[in-house]
Amino acid sequence: MIRTWLGVSLLLGVPLAVPAQDPAAPAAPLVLRAGDLRVVLGETASAAERRAAALLVAEVQRRTGLEVPIGAAPAGRIALLVGTADSSVALRAFRADHPEAGELGADGYHIATQPDQEQRLFVLGQSPSGVVAGVGRLLRTLRYAAGELTIPALTLSAAPRLPVRGIYFATHFYNFYHVAPLAEVDQVIEEFALWGGNSLCVWFDMHHFTSLSDPQAQAHLERLQHFAATAHGVGMQFGLTFIANEAYAESPAALRPKPSPGSYGVELCPSIPAGLALIGKWQAEVLDAFPRVDFIWAWPYDQGGCACERCTPWGANGFLVASEQLARLFHERVPAGKVWLSTWLLDFMAGNSGEYAGLFRYIGEKRPAWFQGILAGTHGDTIPAPLLERPQPERYPLTWFPEISMWGMEPWGGYGANPLPTLCTRLRERLGAQTQGGWPYSEGIYEDLNKFLWCQFYVSPERATDDILADYASYYLSPAVAADGVRLFHLLEQTHLHTNWRAPRLGVAEEAWALAQSLDGRLPGWARSSWRWRLIYIRAALDHILKTQGYRTAAAQAALQPLAAEITAIYHAQKTFIRPPDLPAPRPASADNLAQGCPVRASSTHPEYSGCEPALTDGVYAQEDGENFWVHDVRKEPTAWVVIDLGKPLALKEVRLQYRGLYGTFWFIPTTLSFAVSADGETWEEAGSSEVVPKEGASYSPAFWDYRLGKNGRFLRVSLGTSQHVGDAFAGTLELVEVEVRGW
Ligand SMILES: [Zn+2]
Repeated sequence: MIRTWLGVSLLLGVPLAVPAQDPAAPAAPLVLRAGDLRVVLGETASAAERRAAALLVAEVQRRTGLEVPIGAAPAGRIALLVGTADSSVALRAFRADHPEAGELGADGYHIATQPDQEQRLFVLGQSPSGVVAGVGRLLRTLRYAAGELTIPALTLSAAPRLPVRGIYFATHFYNFYHVAPLAEVDQVIEEFALWGGNSLCVWFDMHHFTSLSDPQAQAHLERLQHFAATAHGVGMQFGLTFIANEAYAESPAALRPKPSPGSYGVELCPSIPAGLALIGKWQAEVLDAFPRVDFIWAWPYDQGGCACERCTPWGANGFLVASEQLARLFHERVPAGKVWLSTWLLDFMAGNSGEYAGLFRYIGEKRPAWFQGILAGTHGDTIPAPLLERPQPERYPLTWFPEISMWGMEPWGGYGANPLPTLCTRLRERLGAQTQGGWPYSEGIYEDLNKFLWCQFYVSPERATDDILADYASYYLSPAVAADGVRLFHLLEQTHLHTNWRAPRLGVAEEAWALAQSLDGRLPGWARSSWRWRLIYIRAALDHILKTQGYRTAAAQAALQPLAAEITAIYHAQKTFIRPPDLPAPRPASADNLAQGCPVRASSTHPEYSGCEPALTDGVYAQEDGENFWVHDVRKEPTAWVVIDLGKPLALKEVRLQYRGLYGTFWFIPTTLSFAVSADGETWEEAGSSEVVPKEGASYSPAFWDYRLGKNGRFLRVSLGTSQHVGDAFAGTLELVEVEVRGW
């Protein structure tokens, strides 16, 4: 019966009118061509509902060429009604007839794409934000071809699970958010809302400017105000972050803090009454510069802090004084606005100084009402343990600040797309139950897939990662390549680690490159030329070149250069370091360095730098690449050794070491050295020792330090005594940049 009916319908070429209430009835998709579709808004549609409709028709036009009009009343063959029950009489009536559409959760939506008797389809949102998310969901289910739009038969209701589905834009360092044309950033914001996101946070970083009236400050403010308007325009919330004691570049020297690690040095001490007053004055000016701020973050580090006696420990003392004032200023203006207290780098920046313990004691004793929740950062896989056991989770809910931009790439964003599905999933699972959502840290558009993942984690925390990846590949590439797209994203995560063109884990680079080329040939034109695909494709191409040719020869560099230039153009990254690094000048191999390219093993390596041992013999010097070094694992041992396998027994004249420098001075230098040689790598013969080493903190020189050997051996062991570096979070660390060996 159904089959016959279906067949007749197709034969007649008329759209199906399957009752939405009959779950057993299969329904053919609607195939629409020029003039068939009209989008209809409610009589009192909000700005966000109007924007959702505009985004819908623009995307359909871009992908199919079809012009879909937006009107106030149905016309043409099919009408798609978009809006809330508040804004549309027709949608109000629809909701009354459809109980399943009347019980939507916050920001939920109901989609019904089987035409009713009046040939109408529906996207009903619980709120304007829900309308935008519903339109986004519809866009991801449509099928596009030139001159043809296919609408699958759907009846579904959905509502996001977590209330905070945000993104943080780092608007600095001339990165994409800082300099790209506004229209390109707007697109990122609006697509985030189409994904179901509902919150944008930015930072007006005072220290770049002399005051709010500084023309550069005004220009930057105008840019951030524009982002706020764009976010509000699609129903998102907009928030500002403040370093609790931040200040402008020319802050009064007498009110400045006792410097703490990482600070800009211009902040103000909140324990000095005039300092606290000036912090408040400046923060209030920034709040007043925005027509609407929905929430704020109060932030302790990296730049903030004061190491004076009255502020210490900062995270449990001076930070709370300054943050409480900030919260009061905000709540005077926005009584219902939320203040999120960040615990970023507590018990780290100033060493383990009891900041978490003090903060939790304060919360337990005072039960402060001036902040509404805690915002917690992550670094790679690291989650601050105290937060998993914090007091009163009901009263102080937790949101997270997952890092999706910088991990494992130096410079970050320098090699195109950085999909990290496994890392993000692992973090999601560990953060899991204890969260209201969060705002990933975004530096640009190269981490678009990670943004999408986190947004979907917040929308539906139980959804499988690969299902989300397939959704992304299907919508932004093509439904026909979704499975291969998912595979490619995983492969690119396996080759993820890159530091200044060095990529130690390129094992699957060739498989990724073959897949990328195959996909490229199967994409519709709009997808193939999109920045999303180009950044993925270029990443696979760069890895392929690095794997097969490296980056030091002229031929390899000729292949890498145009791809790097395209990345820079896509990011508008002409003035920033967040782009492909410069290629080092090609240098011929050293004929008299016996160690060049030889295998290295080490007694330990810091886990965050795992695989960095080859840096010791790769011929890349500190003056070319300050980040190309080996570092031992101070948690495992106070001293360390490295062994170089020269490949065959040789007469060894001397060993030459290049030490590490940071900020223009020697860092992480051992107190003593000793050497040994071996024929088999097991039995060792002493080959001298020395206390002639650079002095930690002295002015840095990249010149090599030579040590006499005068022995024969295939293996050379260099043993490093305890570190000269003491007194901060990195105390005891040992590093070396390069080891060279000369023969007779
Ligand atoms: Zn202080």
